[in-house]
Amino acid sequence: MKHSNDRRDILGFSLLGALTQGALSQNVSRLQAQGVQRPAAPVPDRAVTRNRRNFVAIQVKPFAWKDEGIDRLLDNIQNKGAVNTVWAYTYDYSEEHMTRNGTIPLPDHGIPGGSQFVGGAFYDYDPKYFQNTILRDFRSPDYGNFNVIAEVAPKVKARGMDFFAWDYNNAFPIMMQSIPNFIEVAEIDIYGRRTTSPCFNHPDYRAHLTGKVESVLEGYAGLVDGFAWGCERMGPLGNLIGGGWSTRGLCCFCRFCVAKGQERGVSADRARMGYRKLDALFGASSTDQGPAQGSAQRLADGYFVTFWRTLLEYPEILAWESLWTDSYHEVRSELYGTGKTIAPEKPFGFHIMQNMTFSPFYRAEEDYARTKDYCDFLKLATYNNAAGPRLATFLDRLHETVFRDATPEEFQPFFYDVMGYREAPYAQLHTTGLSVEYLKEETRRALEGVRGSNVQIYPGIDIDVPTKRTDKRTTPDDVRRSVHAAFEAGANGVVLSREYVEMWLANLTAAGDALREIFANTKS
Ligand SMILES: [Zn+2]
Repeated sequence: MKHSNDRRDILGFSLLGALTQGALSQNVSRLQAQGVQRPAAPVPDRAVTRNRRNFVAIQVKPFAWKDEGIDRLLDNIQNKGAVNTVWAYTYDYSEEHMTRNGTIPLPDHGIPGGSQFVGGAFYDYDPKYFQNTILRDFRSPDYGNFNVIAEVAPKVKARGMDFFAWDYNNAFPIMMQSIPNFIEVAEIDIYGRRTTSPCFNHPDYRAHLTGKVESVLEGYAGLVDGFAWGCERMGPLGNLIGGGWSTRGLCCFCRFCVAKGQERGVSADRARMGYRKLDALFGASSTDQGPAQGSAQRLADGYFVTFWRTLLEYPEILAWESLWTDSYHEVRSELYGTGKTIAPEKPFGFHIMQNMTFSPFYRAEEDYARTKDYCDFLKLATYNNAAGPRLATFLDRLHETVFRDATPEEFQPFFYDVMGYREAPYAQLHTTGLSVEYLKEETRRALEGVRGSNVQIYPGIDIDVPTKRTDKRTTPDDVRRSVHAAFEAGANGVVLSREYVEMWLANLTAAGDALREIFANTKS
């Protein structure tokens, strides 16, 4: 770890993260356990970061470059979409290759995909960056050892566009087969089972993540203009409540997390017991037909009161959730520190998953006031069309867990008040999606959250983010209205979302037309 620790020591950007690994960690943790405030991490001087004005990005899957050809693809996104920043996947284990009649239908460009996929890094890296980890063999063999940085970045830059590495770290089960030793860093759940998610407190996983930042920003210094890091994960309470982003298993209770709990004075045994009780409670709720179906509730005090009583009985439940979330913030802070040490002028930021806009519990933990100290930009997953079915799924999960005592129709008005929304009734969500007001509200909230920090806010514009065939689908008019709404709310730029490979060209063109119109009017 010498390589990266030196960097952190020099700049101290990620003091919070560095302290958890360094010699000071025990003292700091002890102070925290005693209620003593830890020193605030110094905020880096963001004045040196070169943020592009009128930022318009798009995410591009590795296979798209091979299927469509680099030049043709760049023609499409630059000419039709007015894109000036390419977010090219440099690490990906989620193929989701489209077929004509598949779950994600192939639009009017690209070619149908096959099923062969290994995943990994889509660039060559120097092994020196991975000397301190057992996770060092992850070069993707797909598409003829395609190197997206070496082959695509020069062409992107020749067009006056920027090339960002899009380092995508969701936990996909395929990683357990594709990466030697990955099983060693797996999170351990409340029942002692290994899961398919890596643990943020495992030193080998942390070194793997840090090595990627170094191998890209140092190894391709002349080709990569910025770094976008994404990982859609939650702690054990988030996974218990669920929704579209939960991973399997209530985690983590590996030896590193148990030790971290000990440093904080939190008993892992008590946390496990508490989570087992909640797991049993919500397991029972799924077979309880509840008041909506006219049958009596099984619990004398109902589900919410029993849930709350369990939290009171086992405060370790929330303490373990915080341990997970703190570790997640630490890792991101550490990666930012690493990136800014190598290239202080290059923007380094994060993808914020859409659960931030649905779950009041996750929203409390993600917390822009905290995140703003270690990023240059945030991309918000504010996909308003897909938000309809996605929100309906989340409300269903609330109904299956903490709000089992009422139906989604009954608690939705209260939920909208809590989240600050005025949207369609539950029964219509699949066919209406959410309005552009949702996009505006989330953009404004993020801007308010990072106020005074110069962090750039880039809402994601929904362009054919997949929904079921019977759900609302994106139209060019939807795209135009979303783009205008984002800038009306004060966004610093946008990310056309989710994936280029999913977008119909008429919708991409609608985005480009709206963007050119907006930028023409804002030129001074
Ligand atoms: Zn762990």
